[in-house]
Amino acid sequence: MVVSCSEIGPLNHAGHTFGSSLKGVPLEVFLPVEQSPKILLMASIHGDESISTVLLSECLRSMEPSVLKSAVILSANPDGTLVGTRCNAGGVDLNRNFPSQNWVADPVFYRNRKGGPQDIPLSPGSSAGSEPETQAIMGLIDKISPKLIVSLHGFLNCIDDPQSSTIAMDLARRTNMEVVPDVGYETPGSFGSWCAEKQIPIITYELPFLPMDELRKIHNPVLSDLMTGHYEALLG
Ligand SMILES: [Zn+2]
Repeated sequence: MVVSCSEIGPLNHAGHTFGSSLKGVPLEVFLPVEQSPKILLMASIHGDESISTVLLSECLRSMEPSVLKSAVILSANPDGTLVGTRCNAGGVDLNRNFPSQNWVADPVFYRNRKGGPQDIPLSPGSSAGSEPETQAIMGLIDKISPKLIVSLHGFLNCIDDPQSSTIAMDLARRTNMEVVPDVGYETPGSFGSWCAEKQIPIITYELPFLPMDELRKIHNPVLSDLMTGHYEALLG
């Protein structure tokens, strides 16, 4: 098969379906050809942060499939990505739907403007882990047992790692962002809470708000390194 290896061309990697969204859109993961992945990179659990999908896609498209060493989910919330909403098609914030001990049934609130009030309500789901996307992500993680998960979000401009790991420190140094122990507010039922309870190291990579060309210049080399094994020696 001819692979274009151009970040502006089509995506020629073969994805594997690991579930489907509430509306029946396949959830796809891109996997290494020759090894089991040690790192899982995931974009767009919030569908209104889809710049993370574009950046990861560009990195993936710029490499031969044989170079890929990590698992990559370009959109964990395809229904939300298609219509530009934070939530899935059922109005659920998937990043508040994971069955962690701190999951709550009350509505969750978010802000969509810097400095604005955190007053936009969304559902955390009818029960913890109620959504098909949440269930599929949990199933995939059980199957591939990553040693590190990097979940991409926007636009808090920080590397959130409660462990302040060596990898987080290096990502922060290279991207000129700060390592923080949390995002500064409660996140019940978040993917990060669930991963922490399962003792899976997770870094929440919050992109800054920058023009696309600058995001690409600063972050694509770093994200590409996360995909191609550059950081594997630092994993426990
Ligand atoms: Zn987010």
